[in-house]
Amino acid sequence: MPLIVQKFGGSSVANPEKILRAARRAIRAQQEGSQVVMVVSAMGDTTDDLLELAAKITDRPPAREMDMLLSTGEQVSVALMAIAIHSLGHKAVSLTGAQIGVKTDASYRKARIKSIETARLRKSLDDGNIVIAAGFQGIDDDFNITTLGRGGSDTTAVALAAVLRADACEIYTDVDGVYTTDPRVVPEARRVSRISYDEMLELASLGAGVMHSRSIEFGKKFDVPIHVRSSFTDSNGTMIVAEPERPDLPVSGAAITKDEARITVQGVIDKPGSSLEIFSRIAAKNISVDMIVQNIGESGRADISFTVPQNELETALEAVRDAAKVVGAEGITSDDSVAKISVVGLGMAKQTGVAQKMFRSLADAGINIQMITTSEIKISVLVSRERSPEALRIVHHVFELDSTPHAPREDSITRSVMPTMRTGESDAAAVVARLQSMNMEDLTIDEISLDASQARVTISGVPDKPGLAAKVFEDVAAAGIFVDMIVQSHPSAAGTATLSFTVPQNQLTKSVEAAKRIAQSLGCKQVTSSPTIGKLSVSGVGLRTHVGVAIRMFKALSDAGINLEMINTSEVRVNVVVDGAAGEKGLTQLQAAFADVLR
Ligand code: ASP
Ligand code: MG
Repeated sequence: MPLIVQKFGGSSVANPEKILRAARRAIRAQQEGSQVVMVVSAMGDTTDDLLELAAKITDRPPAREMDMLLSTGEQVSVALMAIAIHSLGHKAVSLTGAQIGVKTDASYRKARIKSIETARLRKSLDDGNIVIAAGFQGIDDDFNITTLGRGGSDTTAVALAAVLRADACEIYTDVDGVYTTDPRVVPEARRVSRISYDEMLELASLGAGVMHSRSIEFGKKFDVPIHVRSSFTDSNGTMIVAEPERPDLPVSGAAITKDEARITVQGVIDKPGSSLEIFSRIAAKNISVDMIVQNIGESGRADISFTVPQNELETALEAVRDAAKVVGAEGITSDDSVAKISVVGLGMAKQTGVAQKMFRSLADAGINIQMITTSEIKISVLVSRERSPEALRIVHHVFELDSTPHAPREDSITRSVMPTMRTGESDAAAVVARLQSMNMEDLTIDEISLDASQARVTISGVPDKPGLAAKVFEDVAAAGIFVDMIVQSHPSAAGTATLSFTVPQNQLTKSVEAAKRIAQSLGCKQVTSSPTIGKLSVSGVGLRTHVGVAIRMFKALSDAGINLEMINTSEVRVNVVVDGAAGEKGLTQLQAAFADVLR
């Protein structure tokens, strides 16, 4: 018999009518021949109200007691849901996380799921019940109640679907799916019929808040197709699966991260360990860092720029000031009025000219790009916050995200036709074996690799004006050169930026020639290059939600005396570029550093 998991968020169970509506939906699925597990969140704003209540007593409540308190929200809604189903004449049983056997670690307020028992769930289902599971909660080894972090019911739902090998996991919410971008900023944003796990992970971390990131990680790791849909209609929403709607298009979604702040540490002595010193101190304060760009050092010194959430700027600066003393920096600057615009797409990995198209569209509108980083499936630029909504609209339009695909694929997606792209691990037995051999939410590294086929070109002294990046990459493309990574540093004190990019080694001569021509015509200072670089990559699941992956990487390389030339972090991959001569050594070093989590 097919098994379906249906999750209802707080807004979908906010009052008795809505609870009854959700109950009817579950009953209908059962009548259509499925076993049904419902996962419910706390009603409406209950969780917020509970937080507020505690805050009226103290601003330092013990974390254990907060989880005891917060878990009651879901206990109320599961009971009411079971009552609703009974009242409609059907069998239902509600279960808390502890009753199911959702085992977590002991980190209150942000616990991670280690394992889930299925015996009791199966038995209740086989007895003809609709099983109603409390989202967001579990118990640790000592039977303390834990919660999974805000929005954690999504994660409960996908995790249950994984262990039960459910045929479908439906997430009912107050939006009708995943959009190409935030419709509040870009009214032309369009709902997509499907999107890939990797794209969704990137977009979620960029602030496209449809689902809890950890639930997407579960989906990817355990090959669970997730259907995000409206609780108020019957129409299809968005499938989150291995492949996007249009794999042939370079971009599937665009995002704006408005509340960013930029920090630049100037004149850092360019030696192994400098980045580590800075980023480990920031990580120690639990602040996540993004868009790390280091311009290639001149006279043995480099500027390191990166972004942090705006509301954590002050704390991050404290950490940076301490680090600056150790790494011999010349100064620190920061800007809290910037925003990040990103485009995401699996398709861009296989296409050229994507970055250049984005840069051109912004240039034509006179929007200055302050920093650039690119990874295999994401391009991010930093712009002034003031112009960021306009920038988002422009890139959304230039990548045709507002036009409906010609042949919408409305075919139903099942595991058999959509085997995971990762390892072809589509057979249930292998997945189940994997489920049992480890803690479900542990960091897993799929691959550690070295790409030794590229070279680097750097143009320094690039005037800080709109249109420069567009011009450079148009000219480079016109010369027939394939660019992989691009980073543009934040302009130095002298008001000029450094633009570095990587190219295939056999195109280096051509690239340097092109770069020199460009540098001359634009009045840049100089072109330098490195004939062989090593691009070291670590990819897997949980790279960002498990803080410290990048740090672990920096540390391993720094311990071996290897200097980092370029850095790029994303949800699914961290890339660092090192000198070609250090590539092999770096690879060995990373394999050792991640041996415990490499699968
Ligand atoms: N009730 C919890 C929260 O509001 C969990 C959830 O809704 O997913 O964060
Ligand atoms: Mg909620």
